[in-house]
Amino acid sequence: MVDYIGVSDIGRIVNELGPAEFMARLAREIAADYRRWPEFEKSARLASHSPVGVIELMPATDGKLYSFKYVTGHPKNTAEGLLTVTAFGVLASVDTGYPLLLSELTVTTALRTAATSALAAQTLARPDSRVMALIGNGAQSEFQAIAFHRLCGIRQLRVYDVDPQATAKLVRNLAAMPELADLQVVRTHSAAEACKGADIVTTVTADKRNAVILTPPMITPGMHINGVGGDCPGKTELHPDILRMPGMRVVVEYEPQSRIEGEIQQMPGDYPVIELAQVLRGETLARCSDSEITLFDSVGFALEDYSALRFLHALLSQQRLGRRDLDLVPVLDDPKDLFGGTLAGQSGIARPRKSKTA
Ligand code: NAD
Repeated sequence: MVDYIGVSDIGRIVNELGPAEFMARLAREIAADYRRWPEFEKSARLASHSPVGVIELMPATDGKLYSFKYVTGHPKNTAEGLLTVTAFGVLASVDTGYPLLLSELTVTTALRTAATSALAAQTLARPDSRVMALIGNGAQSEFQAIAFHRLCGIRQLRVYDVDPQATAKLVRNLAAMPELADLQVVRTHSAAEACKGADIVTTVTADKRNAVILTPPMITPGMHINGVGGDCPGKTELHPDILRMPGMRVVVEYEPQSRIEGEIQQMPGDYPVIELAQVLRGETLARCSDSEITLFDSVGFALEDYSALRFLHALLSQQRLGRRDLDLVPVLDDPKDLFGGTLAGQSGIARPRKSKTA
């Protein structure tokens, strides 16, 4: 049987630890897998674009476990009462090829994206960073706020969205969390106002175009930018001049994919970048001075979903939660008798008789 995690299950699993602790542990798992970078078979994701969105497949394997995610990105969906991002995925054994876990990954994508953002910021942002601008207050925003509060010590959040109802929802959700009692949330009226005095700027907006959420005058020396919403060809959030600012250091997840999908798609092919694995493996310094501007040009990489699925699968066996099975793969007395073991005797198909001469 294949383990199954649905939307109702993920709520129970995450809340048993609490979202902050869950993301802290997930960040450790993601870091551990990034440190094993050479062991992974890596590829840029396979994207199918339409005028309104994208459907993507994201595989990863370390030769022992294999994972893939199906993920969508449709910024126009929220106006129709639907999510911008939805996802599900599979963890499988490389040894047998059998799936081990089929899981929802919509909530998990938000958790792993925020965990990865905070993990990157732990090395890229100035250690004394306490103030973060959070621009784009939709589905991903609470996860980013909680992860940065827990993992990076953010104590003031300066929030902005073109949709005031999205900001009201974010403020309400954060206020309901006792563990965020020491987090001051400040509503602002523009991206520029949100950035004032911020040590870290997170952009997590959704628009299927080269949007200009941040411009050079909003960026000050020493800032760390966590750019999350620019993650497709023709879908960016930063004015390209930000990438040309002196003292700029850009970290990406997997360079071949980020060249196509990240903020750096706006730059020539030889624009210098560092891969997150290089930083986490100690091969290069993340930040060289307090005045440097750093950018985590996040697009989301398959390894992070691999880590999340591996972590969830391990939690299923550790937690006292009822496991749910799916009969996704036939269990047969005779593995060569797929027909007899599945179809025969059902829907009017006669079960084949054993031959007397056999
Ligand atoms: P969402 O639609 O729920 O929220 C996006 C928010 O951005 C909305 O509230 C919208 O009003 C706001 N917005 C749009 N234009 C804006 C502007 N100019 N200024 C301020 N706010 C603006 O989407 P979501 O699920 O929160 O995802 C946000 C973005 O993050 C999407 O672009 C998505 O593709 C991306 N994403 C990236 C990763 C990654 O790994 N990098 C993972 C998940 C999602």
